[in-house]
Amino acid sequence: MRDTVTPTHCPYCALQCGMNLTPAPDGRAVEVSERADFPVNRGALCGKGRTAPAVLSSSVRLTSPLVRSAGGALVPASWEEALARVAGGLGRTRAEYGADAVGVFGGGGLTNEKAYSLGKFARVVLGTSQIDYNGRFCMSSAAAAGGKAFGLDRGLPFPLEDVPRTGCVILVGSNPAETMPPSLRYFTELRENGGTLIVVDPRRTKTAEQADLHLAPRPGTDLALALGLLHLIVAEGRTDEAYIRERTSGWEETRAAAMAHWPEYVERITGVPVPELREAVRLFCEPEAAMVLTARGPEQQSKGTDTVGAWINLCLATGRAGRPLSGYGCLTGQGNGQGGREHGQKADQLPGYRKLTDPAARAHVAEVWGVDPDSLPGPGRSAYELLDALGTDIRSLLLMGSNPVVSAPRAAHVEERIRSLDFLAVCDVVLSETAALADVVLPVTQWAEETGTTTNLEGRVLLRRRAITPPEGVRSDLEVMHELAARLGGDRNLEKGFPTDPEEVFEELRRASAGGPADYSGITYRRLAEENGVFWPCPAQVDGPLNAGSTGIGAGTAETGTSTAADPRGIGGAGHAPRDAAGLGALLDDPARADAAGRLDTADGASAARPGAAPGIHPGTPRLFLDRFATEDGRARFAPVSHRAVAEEPDDEYPVLLTTGRVVAQYQSGAQTRRVDELNAAAPGPFVELHPRLAERLGAAEGAPVAVVSRRGRAVAPARITTAIRPDTVFMPFHWAGEGRANTLTNPALDPTSRMPEFKACAVRLEAVEAG
Ligand code: SF4
Repeated sequence: MRDTVTPTHCPYCALQCGMNLTPAPDGRAVEVSERADFPVNRGALCGKGRTAPAVLSSSVRLTSPLVRSAGGALVPASWEEALARVAGGLGRTRAEYGADAVGVFGGGGLTNEKAYSLGKFARVVLGTSQIDYNGRFCMSSAAAAGGKAFGLDRGLPFPLEDVPRTGCVILVGSNPAETMPPSLRYFTELRENGGTLIVVDPRRTKTAEQADLHLAPRPGTDLALALGLLHLIVAEGRTDEAYIRERTSGWEETRAAAMAHWPEYVERITGVPVPELREAVRLFCEPEAAMVLTARGPEQQSKGTDTVGAWINLCLATGRAGRPLSGYGCLTGQGNGQGGREHGQKADQLPGYRKLTDPAARAHVAEVWGVDPDSLPGPGRSAYELLDALGTDIRSLLLMGSNPVVSAPRAAHVEERIRSLDFLAVCDVVLSETAALADVVLPVTQWAEETGTTTNLEGRVLLRRRAITPPEGVRSDLEVMHELAARLGGDRNLEKGFPTDPEEVFEELRRASAGGPADYSGITYRRLAEENGVFWPCPAQVDGPLNAGSTGIGAGTAETGTSTAADPRGIGGAGHAPRDAAGLGALLDDPARADAAGRLDTADGASAARPGAAPGIHPGTPRLFLDRFATEDGRARFAPVSHRAVAEEPDDEYPVLLTTGRVVAQYQSGAQTRRVDELNAAAPGPFVELHPRLAERLGAAEGAPVAVVSRRGRAVAPARITTAIRPDTVFMPFHWAGEGRANTLTNPALDPTSRMPEFKACAVRLEAVEAG
């Protein structure tokens, strides 16, 4: 038993670091060791990953279902009783108020198999349109902007290994030094190779400290910042006119919008001095290749889609997108934030990243599911709107893999809405703050106890493997859906459509995704195991059946293919890929190089096949858009956007801006990481980061409690005084519940396209608090 080493992946963030697990002598816990063969992290792990096994054997781990007693307490119950109660609660609501009165809320940490099954469960078993997930709060603005610009959203359209080879990276609202530390080496290597790093962040974060240039705009003004940069790019004649002409549309309108944003005007809005804007433009435009990478900063805004669009505009105006070692990408946050949004747990989507409103998509998926397309509900509410409707239009909720009492905006209101439900069922591994409010809590298996796939921030589909036997008393989410389908389906035998074997679910997911934007049909568990991951889109064998169990990729795997990808030094000679037409042509004219660069597969699944791949077997697509974009005409679309203020500007009553974010030792709502001693010791609780000038005005000392008050509530946490933040801004991490809950304060104003709430900027005032 002890020598059984299982290669798998971390349960937490979107980097999905590879790790090896070895069962500990007690057979319940596992030991983590380095897994150097996985290229993304090359063995490196952050503290969260190293300590992840602690949650498996934690004393607060749930190992028995809990049901709400007549006296109001949660008490242990049998699985039979708990499942009967869940089926009864959801079924009663459906019978009394209609299917749309039952809501389903999923999570970006669920495996692809679970996310797929949950979307199917909602639409086929419950018949409800009311399903969404916490990924809506994560990267939905980048997904919307990427879809608009390129016709396809995949977090990074290139592997991370391209980052050190480019000439300049603008990292917007991202702090990988804290959120995904092993990824920092890509930016370190970039600088060692002579490239430059520009960080855009209101705070001088650990990542910003390593930058060649740090731009610190007021929270919520980076749309204006991007417009100011585009203005200077045009004014200084740094646009790539041939590229704009041949590969884009919508330039004139966008150019006009940018020219209305004079640098001095942008300086007044953002607080970023004009010389810094000019320097950023110089650093970005001079190299042959460059990238813009965004994360939650620009995305978690009520204008997040436009803000990301404005940053994409920079890549289009300078001819970066769809060029080797260049372009725009989003650093997704949650472990399966990418896959979680592709397979149907989003309010408006079907598996394969298909639109729920597309008749052809409905027909295809309905056929796979064996149901009438007309029986499939239409789009439902987005995550916050769904939570806001609890207790009114939505009377019962099934929640899986999420803790909105801590992670949703305007959290006190959301908590109140959850408390007003007729019935709440939660599947979780610990009694999270949301689970504590449930009528029934179902204890489920965790990452190391089950097999399943995730899709990391690069679009690389990965196999997580079971390493240990789950404790007695827990069941997998897939088993829960199987059992509930049996109980809620009447005599329709719906449980047959909900296998409990993850590979069986994945085989169905392959068929459901076939032909869709996120096509997984050519990916099998066997390939994932042998190739260490496969990038989508990966269509099945072109003229044959699904290539179940297919092998033969050999040296032409996605992994080996990417590692031989266009080496800039062999082409551009100066450390950067060529931007000139001749150099790019040379790259794309050389079949071996072009294939290794991962040409965009479009209608022809074989077009990306690379030498060494077995005939008819698609190798996966590490790099997108090199030939054309995924829009109908193959052109990328500029976003003609203009500056807008944050939804809630500071005023006399609330004169300061609050922005929220993460710390390195905690993950998301902290439901798991707050239960790990080592992580708690490193990050024991929330804090309010503020500038010395603000602290002086308030009379607050380091460590003294400070109250932060917004129109939605009040939070109290110790002061952390630092010059690393703007004097007009305070920062709070959002991992904690209780009086230090940052999301008590945040503003649920929604982006009109992505329905993303405004987590990153709201008006607050500070109050001194007597130490208790
Ligand atoms: Fe890697 Fe993220 Fe896990 Fe840390 S939390 S080990 S960065 S996957």
